[in-house]
Order: sequence, then structure tokens, then C-alpha cells
Amino acid sequence: MIDGFGRIIDYLRVSVTDRCNLRCRYCIQPDEVKWLRHDEIVTFEEIIQVVKIAVGMGMNKVRLTGGEPLVRRDICTLVAEIARIDGVDDLALSTNGVLLEQMAFSLARAGLKRVNVSLDTTDAERFRDLTRGGDISRVFAGIAAAKAAGLEPIKLNCVVGGPCQHSDLLSVQRYAIAQKLELRTIPFMDFAAGRFSVISGSSRGDCSRCNRLRLSSDASIRPCLFSDLSFSIRELGVERALRLAIELKPESGGRCSHNWMHGIGG
Ligand code: SAM
Repeated sequence: MIDGFGRIIDYLRVSVTDRCNLRCRYCIQPDEVKWLRHDEIVTFEEIIQVVKIAVGMGMNKVRLTGGEPLVRRDICTLVAEIARIDGVDDLALSTNGVLLEQMAFSLARAGLKRVNVSLDTTDAERFRDLTRGGDISRVFAGIAAAKAAGLEPIKLNCVVGGPCQHSDLLSVQRYAIAQKLELRTIPFMDFAAGRFSVISGSSRGDCSRCNRLRLSSDASIRPCLFSDLSFSIRELGVERALRLAIELKPESGGRCSHNWMHGIGG
């Protein structure tokens, strides 16, 4: 699929839930957050329908995200169903790693190819503080299990700035080198101010190379993370929502009024 600015759109990110088992300071403000009702959350049937139609339109890469995708019940069933769709060449998942130890082998068996793990520090106390209560030993065990299950290449996503300190980044850099993992830094985005920025080693932030659409956890297609444009598949139907998102995908990100990374999937 080619959009109005000549960009090839071949990458679909699917936020399978707005729920998360961590409360990262830069992402979720527990006092302000309004969780989706269960009937509002995108169903597996809807996700499969969107992937099938998107693949029919020429998309071939799918990433599951959230919230935390591994807290969605029966996520391995969804992975298996997507993996079976002809034309999905790359099926990946972004996770905080907390539940990866017990799920890595089932995910690989279901057809998942690889994982990105968010890791903003390797210091146990700093991790507990940044995530408001997370246990870093779960993440290390999850990464080891992902390696053993062959969910590679494993990439680490590390937020820099905001509540994350330079010493946190240095600790993750050392860990990435020791573990032979690829590291991508993500500049802290201040959604309160509607600011966005570039992610090294990815097209994110470089709008002229943006190849993605998002299916958010409220069953809407979003053409740009830094825009409020959103097309409900329930109101418009899947095909029309996808076509409108491609037709109206902005040339570049602008201001957005949402602070909903955990619902859209980052
Ligand atoms: N739970 C999964 C995880 O931890 O990777 C997937 C969802 S999480 C919302 C996706 C990405 O968004 C993570 O890499 C996280 O670091 C990033 N993110 C969330 N809020 C952010 C912010 N304000 N600035 C920069 N990155 C942010």
C-alpha cells in the first residue's frame, strides 16, 4: 500500500490491550488513567480480520504490543492464528519481559519470530522505582528464556530522558554488550506537551520513512502516533477504516492531545 506521500505502508502494530503489569513513570499515570471496559477492547476476531485485510492490501509485518501484550489472556492462541495467515512474513512482539520466562517457548511454538524487550535500567532499585514496583530479576529471566526459545534477534528498547537517568542508560548499554543484544534508545516523549522525537535505528520519528499503521486497543486504526486521527473499525468497517487511515496519513507527526501510549502501543 502506498499512501498520499509515496510511502510504502507495510507494517501493522497491534495493541492487544491497554492493561499492563508495570506502571512505568513515563508511560502510565495511575491517578489519571481511564482503563477501557472489556467490551471496548479489540477482540481476537477483530484483530484477525484486520490483519487479513491489511495483508490483502499489501502489508506483511505485524507487531503485537500494548499495554503489556503478555497479560492478554490466550495471547499464544492469537499469535498462532496470525502466524497462520499467508503473507505475514514477520511476526514480532514488544514486551516488558516480566512474563516472558514462562511464555517464551509457547510463544515460539505458536509462531512468534522475535521479541523487543523494554529495559530502562539494570539496577534493581532504580527499576522498582521507574516501574513503580517491578522486579528486574523477572526481566533478566525472561530475556534468557527468549534466547533459549530462539525469539531472536532480541532488541532492547531503552527510554532516555524524563525519569530515566544517564546512569540507567549506561547500565543497559553494558548489559546489552555483555548479552550481545541490540540496543535502541527511545527519547522520552512528553505527551503532556505533545512532543515527539526520533528513535535511533528505526524509522520512528523520521516521518518520511514511516511505514506503519496502528490498530489500537479500542479497535481503531491510527495512521500516526502523533496525531489524534483515529478510525473505528466498529463504526466504519475494517476495510474503510484501513483505507481512510492510509489516505489521510499525515505527512508528519504534529501535536496530539492523547497521553495513551499504553492503549495505542507506542
Ligand atoms: N509493554 C510493552 C513494552 O514494555 O515494550 C509494550 C508497550 S510500551 C507502551 C511500548 C514502548 O513505549 C516501550 O518501549 C516504552 O518504553 C515506550 N514508551 C511509553 N511511554 C513513553 C514515553 N512517554 N516516551 C518514550 N517512550 C515511551
